[in-house]
Amino acid sequence: MITRRGMIGGAATAMASARRLKAANAPLDIVVIGGGIAGAAAASQLSAQGHQVVMLEARSRLGGRINTDRSFAMPIDLGASWIHGPSQANPLVALAAKAGLTTAVTPDDLVQVYAATGAPLPYSVVDPKEATYDRLTNRARSTAARTGRDMSFQQAMTAQQGTLFNDPVMRYFGAAWTEFDTGAPLDQLSALQGMEDEEFGGSDVIVTNGYDRLFQPLVNGYEIRMGSPVKAISQTESDITVEYPGGTITADAAVLTAPLGVLKAGSIQFSPGLASTKLAAINRVGFGTVNKVVLEFTRATWPAGMQYFGFCRAVGAAGRACYAMNVKRLRAHFKYLGCHIHSALSNWRIQRVGI
Ligand SMILES: Cc1cc2nc3c(=O)[nH]c(=O)nc-3n(C[C@H](O)[C@H](O)[C@H](O)COP(=O)(O)OP(=O)(O)OC[C@H]3O[C@@H](n4cnc5c(N)ncnc54)[C@H](O)[C@@H]3O)c2cc1C
Repeated sequence: MITRRGMIGGAATAMASARRLKAANAPLDIVVIGGGIAGAAAASQLSAQGHQVVMLEARSRLGGRINTDRSFAMPIDLGASWIHGPSQANPLVALAAKAGLTTAVTPDDLVQVYAATGAPLPYSVVDPKEATYDRLTNRARSTAARTGRDMSFQQAMTAQQGTLFNDPVMRYFGAAWTEFDTGAPLDQLSALQGMEDEEFGGSDVIVTNGYDRLFQPLVNGYEIRMGSPVKAISQTESDITVEYPGGTITADAAVLTAPLGVLKAGSIQFSPGLASTKLAAINRVGFGTVNKVVLEFTRATWPAGMQYFGFCRAVGAAGRACYAMNVKRLRAHFKYLGCHIHSALSNWRIQRVGI
């Protein structure tokens, strides 16, 4: 079953330490592998506690799945865009304030859904179906949680209403809400554990001046080596050795934040090898792709006040270009007008359109 969780829940970080002969509270030499938000947060905290930290990042930029494109009229996030559950309990909120992130609420109810023919669907048609999709989703999740019996989200939904996904509007909800949010096809998403990212309360907000700014408070006080993909990590009783094309680092501890795909591909050799339980989890859990196509227009040809446009598809075409977001609504003073088209489960690309 595939699961993909938000930034807080998904920062799958593992720390291994060896026992070098040091006094109990002496600073440690620590290697942090990966310069995404998990690695940057770990490196920042560890160096603030007085440890000597070196970060190794494979690519020529920090950020990982936080990736802001600044070639458009406004910063466009190709990876993470929203702060989900921006309550005061969410640690991202304090960090975002420190980094000077500006945000805006993207109201889910400001949406115009279109039929596969291109005809706009009235709210009197869409709203009751939305209530049904919500109700069935909640029941699918609570039944799975109560019984502990896992099945795919699609099975859990169709067990309640067999012909549910014959309805193009229901397929739209499945693609735009569930597949886009989780990065997984409905038939591979776990009804039991596939949607466990609702840690904090509050209406989701989107970052309007670039999510990559989040890194500014997190990259000081330690050394960062870019273009340094780690190939091997070996641990002995006394230390940990990390190998990358630029050399070898021996340290007291290593924090590994490489994503699941890197672990699945076996790109890093571990010595001793990973425990069989960890290997089983790495093999069992999957992940998917979420696409963003960004179109920049010189004038709006759509209702400027609408936040989202939803697209129903014919049978068999679920998941493609399921909704568009009107970026102009977030930054009304911008001369150019943007439109995200979010499509679940294919490769991403960027386009510009002059009209
Ligand atoms: C399209 C998309 C939209 C998303 N939207 C949201 C959203 O709106 N809100 C939200 O909260 N979350 C969202 N997420 C999820 C969020 O982006 C991730 O959960 C988060 O960024 C993961 O951070 P990370 O540090 O764990 O991993 P990553 O960001 O993947 O960072 C891992 C880093 O490790 C590096 N690395 C890999 N292998 C090696 C190696 N061998 N040696 C050294 N370095 C290595 C990589 O280059 C990368 O920089 C979205 C994700 C995607 C893809």
